[in-house]
Amino acid sequence: TPPTRDQILQQLQEAEVKFLRLQFTDILGTTKNVEVPKSQFAKALNGDVTFDGSAVEGFTRVEESDMLLRPDLGTFLIYPQFSREEGERGKVARLICDVALPDGTPFDGDPRQVLKRQIARAQAMGFEMFVGTEPEFFLFERSPSGVGTTVTHDKAGYFDLAPIDKGERIRREITNKLVEMGFEIEAAHHEVSPGQHEIDFRYAPALETADRIATFKFVVKRVALEYGLLASFLPKPLPGVNGSGMHCHLSLFKGGSNAFADPGGEHGLSRTAQQFIAGLLDHAGAMVAITNPLVNSYKRLVPGFEAPVNVAWSTSNRSALIRIPAKRGNSTRAEVRMPDPSCNPYLALAVMLAAGLDGIEQDMEPAPAIQRNIFKMTVREKRHHRVKELPSDLREAVDELEKDDVLRRALGEHVLDHFVEAKRAEWREYNATVHAWELERYLDLI
Ligand code: GLU
Ligand code: MG
Ligand code: MG
Repeated sequence: TPPTRDQILQQLQEAEVKFLRLQFTDILGTTKNVEVPKSQFAKALNGDVTFDGSAVEGFTRVEESDMLLRPDLGTFLIYPQFSREEGERGKVARLICDVALPDGTPFDGDPRQVLKRQIARAQAMGFEMFVGTEPEFFLFERSPSGVGTTVTHDKAGYFDLAPIDKGERIRREITNKLVEMGFEIEAAHHEVSPGQHEIDFRYAPALETADRIATFKFVVKRVALEYGLLASFLPKPLPGVNGSGMHCHLSLFKGGSNAFADPGGEHGLSRTAQQFIAGLLDHAGAMVAITNPLVNSYKRLVPGFEAPVNVAWSTSNRSALIRIPAKRGNSTRAEVRMPDPSCNPYLALAVMLAAGLDGIEQDMEPAPAIQRNIFKMTVREKRHHRVKELPSDLREAVDELEKDDVLRRALGEHVLDHFVEAKRAEWREYNATVHAWELERYLDLI
C-alpha cells in the first residue's frame, strides 16, 4: 500500500528534504519536472500545484494552459546524493504525477493516463500485466570541455571481466544508486559492443515498470556525468556493431497465477498466451512507431545485430521479434525484442498491452512458431511461413500507426495526432539533410 500524504510529509521533514520534484512525461518521452521548496510541500501533496501546459511539447494550446499535477503517492522517494555539491544544497525527493485539467479530470495527452486506460481495460477482462525490461546503453567519453563523443569508454565485449571492462565501476555505482532508490537489480553486465552495458531490474506491474524505466534512464545519465562520461540510450550510436534494445518481458496474471502458462498447451502455453502473441504480431508494424520512435531506431532493426527485423515468434531463437524464454509456471512470459530505450515507456507498454488484449478479444491465432534462424531464410521461405518484415524506416512505421484503429483508440486522438505530427516533421528534416555517408560515397565518384 502506498504511503499516505501525512506519512510523506513526515518523512520529508525527518529527512530534512529541501526540494520536492513533481515529475511527469511528455508525449515524446521526455521527463519533465516542477521543483517546489519546503513551503509548498503540503500544497504539492494535495495535488494543487499547477504548471503551464502550453509550454510542454504537445500538451495544450495557450488558451487552456493551466494544468494540475496530481502526485501518485506510491512513487515517493528521496533521491540519493549524486555528488558532494549536491549534498550541500540539501536533499531532493520526487513524486511521479498524473496530469489533470483545472477541473480535476485526467488529461488525455498524459502518456501515464494512456497506459492507465489500458491497464483498466485489462483489469476489466480479469488480467494484470507484469513487465520486466532489459535496457541497454552506451558509455562514451566526453571531450576535455565536456562535449559528448562517440569514443567508447572501453573496448570490452559480452560478459567480459575487469580490467578490460572499465565500465564495471560505473555500472556498480549505478546499481548502488538504483538499489538505494528501491530497485531490485537482477543482473548488470557488459553487452556485446564496446562501451555497451545492460542493467536488468525485477519485473513489476506495467505502470510501476514504466515509472522505473523513466527513473532508470535519469540515474544512469546522472551517474555517468559524475564520472565525466556520457551515457546514451540512442538505439544505434555506432555503425557495424550491436545497437541498444530494451527487451520487454510481458506476462498476464489472472487471480494470482500466470495466465500464459498451461502445461497441457502447445509449447506449454495457454490459449490466452497464443492469442496475446498473435495480437502483438498483428499490430507489430504499427506498434514499432511507438516502441522505436527515432529515425535512428530503424538503423538498429537490421539483420545481423541481434535485433529483430521479422515479425515472427519463436520458443528457441533470438532472431524472432518475440521469443518465449524456456521458463514456465509463474515465469511464463513473452520477450518482445523490438523496443529500444528511446521510446516513451508509458506509450510503449500501452500499445503492447492494447495489441495483446486485441488478440485475446478477437481470438487471434498466431502463425506457427519458427525455430530456425530467420536471418538465414530466403524471401520465399519467409513468405511460405507468413513472416512479414517490420517497417524499414520511421516514415513507413508512422504510416502503419496511422492506419491501425486499435492503437489509435488506445493512444487517443490527442496523443496520436501530436505524435504523428512530430514524427513526420522529424522525418522531413532528416530527409532534407545531406548525410556524411552520401558525401563519402558519391562526392568524388559522380
Ligand atoms: N543489443 C541487442 C539488440 O539490439 C540485444 C542483445 C541481447 O540479446 O541482449 O536488441
Ligand atoms: Mg542484452
Ligand atoms: Mg533479452
